Amino acid sequence: GLQCGIVGLPNVGKSTLFNCLSNAKAQSANFPFCTIEPNVGVITVPDERLIKLEELVQPQRVLPATVEIVDIAGLVKGASKGEGLGNKFLSNIRETDAIIHVLRCFDDDNVTHVDGSVDPVRDKEVIDMELQMKDLETIENRLQKSEKAAKASKDQDLKRLVEVLYLYKEVLESGKSARTVELTEAQQKVSKDLYLLTNKPVLYVCNVDEGSVVDGNGHVEAVKTAVADENAEVLVIAAQTEADIAELDSFEERQMFLEDIGLSESGVAKLIRSAYKLLELETYFTAGVKEVRAWTYPKGACAPQAAAVIHTDFEKGFIRAEVIKYDDYVHYKSELACKEAGKMNVEGKEYVVQDGDIMHFRFNV
Ligand code: GDP
Repeated sequence: GLQCGIVGLPNVGKSTLFNCLSNAKAQSANFPFCTIEPNVGVITVPDERLIKLEELVQPQRVLPATVEIVDIAGLVKGASKGEGLGNKFLSNIRETDAIIHVLRCFDDDNVTHVDGSVDPVRDKEVIDMELQMKDLETIENRLQKSEKAAKASKDQDLKRLVEVLYLYKEVLESGKSARTVELTEAQQKVSKDLYLLTNKPVLYVCNVDEGSVVDGNGHVEAVKTAVADENAEVLVIAAQTEADIAELDSFEERQMFLEDIGLSESGVAKLIRSAYKLLELETYFTAGVKEVRAWTYPKGACAPQAAAVIHTDFEKGFIRAEVIKYDDYVHYKSELACKEAGKMNVEGKEYVVQDGDIMHFRFNV
């Protein structure tokens, strides 16, 4: 599955956040959570539509969509030079598909800061710089291999790759991330396999104290200003408070506590949805009496590709898909009623699946 990595300097609240993400109680009463490895969690994506479909269909079981989150601890200044197991952490990041960057935006004299003071913008720059240095190393290695070859060859793709490598090199050397470079389609094609760390989509989590969760604080403002041109989402979460809330036994108690601090839902639930979006994932549903289930597919997928998420045979033998829009399903209350009202569409191979579609695939075995 696709993975989001949590990064940040030590003591900014990464594990606290990871623990509340991985605490099933934090999001939902009945959705299971499991840990594959100590630092990898499979997290269910909260989705109200699934609860609504459960009400209507009354299935034997309900399976939500999931996303994997990895806690990448130990990133420090000098990591790109191998400091503090730096290379290991950086290669963990390389395996992720998107990055959740946690920034300490709370003041607390009891929690020491590795650099002595709370300054999330500086912290962000420290991490960014380590990732950029590592990317520069990757670029320089590739240039060494490709540049001579490109000069001696007529291969246009190779020449184009070298051109892209120089574009990245220039940007990285000026202290910016690879994701700020806009490539043409042809350039993208030749540079797919570079896997640059600073090219991964990112979202920022400002970890604040309880009192700043609604209106933010000066640290949050500074972060928002610093990342304004990055086109990245900035979420404000009180990780420690949410961890405390997650300890409460009943859903009602947790909801009351959240409302007390001014929230209608937990920041963690919002974060999971944002991570899902960051990975460019969408959800379609299958709804039968045995099982109502959310399936994750890459945004923009056609029906056969989306069907392959269930089973590869579904793609190979794809005949057609019967599609009901979620709103129609809720309005007419059953598949049969939708069909009678002419709200079930028969779609072919070219159909681009839409988020929320209720799908029924027909296929040859
Ligand atoms: P990590 O090193 O980034 O994984 O940081 P941890 O999650 O271990 O947190 C470091 C310390 O900061 C722990 O003692 C946490 O209890 C504390 N902490 C985390 N989030 C908050 C917060 O929002 N407010 C306060 N006051 N303390 C926090």
